[in-house]
Amino acid sequence: MYTSYTFAPPTRVSVAVKDSEDRFPVRRIFCVGRYYAEHAREMGGDPAREPPFFFAKPADALTASGVAVPYPPGTADLHHEVELVVAIGRGGARISGEQALHHVFGYAVGNDLTRRDLQGAARKEGQPWDMAKGFDASAQIGCISPAERFGHPGDVAIWLAVNGVERQRSQLGQMIWPVPGIIAALSELVTLAPGDLIYTGTPHGVGALSPGDEVSAGIDGLEELTFRITGAA
Ligand code: MN
Repeated sequence: MYTSYTFAPPTRVSVAVKDSEDRFPVRRIFCVGRYYAEHAREMGGDPAREPPFFFAKPADALTASGVAVPYPPGTADLHHEVELVVAIGRGGARISGEQALHHVFGYAVGNDLTRRDLQGAARKEGQPWDMAKGFDASAQIGCISPAERFGHPGDVAIWLAVNGVERQRSQLGQMIWPVPGIIAALSELVTLAPGDLIYTGTPHGVGALSPGDEVSAGIDGLEELTFRITGAA
C-alpha cells in the first residue's frame, strides 16, 4: 500500500558494519551517565553510592567516522567522551543479565559529545540534559563489529587522543557495571528494539575541544573512530 506524506520522510539513519555491505539501521540512542568510577569522581560524584541512570539522543545526531563535526552553537565548553557503543540486534523487556549478550548485534567506538557548560547549569537547576547532550552531530560512531564474527570485548583498553595527544585511557573492566548489567537495567525501563544503540559511559579524562581539533578514539579489537571539529556551522 502506498502511503502519502505531506513531505518526504527522512532517510533512515544507519551505521556501517565491518566487512559487510549491509548497514545497521538505527532506531534510538540511549546513553549511560557516569559509568566509570574515575569519571564519576572527576564529575564530583561517588560511584559507590549512585545508581545507574540513562539519557537519550536523537538518532539523527549520529555522525560516522571521518565526517567533520561543526562546533555547535550555545556552548563555550564542548567536551569529548569516548565510549563503548552496544548495538542491539534483538529486542526485549526485562532482559536478564544472563541473557543480555544474546541481544547484542555488535560493538563500536563512540563519542558522546557534550556541552559541559549547559550540562552543569542544567544539573544545578534540576533541568533536563537534552540540550547539553542531544544536539545536532552530538553522537559520533565508528563502524560496528558484529559479535557473531568478532566476539564480545573483554577487559581491553579504551582511549581517546586530540591532535595526537592522549586525553583518555582506561580499561573496559573499569566500568562500574559491565554491558550485561547495563542492558538488564535499561530494559527494566524501556522495551529495547533492534536498531537501538547504547552509549555505555566514558572513563576519566574528559576535556574541551576547539575548532580544528583532530580527534581519534579506539577500543582494542574495534575499528578506530576519527573526526575533526570544524568552525561553527
Ligand atoms: Mn557519556
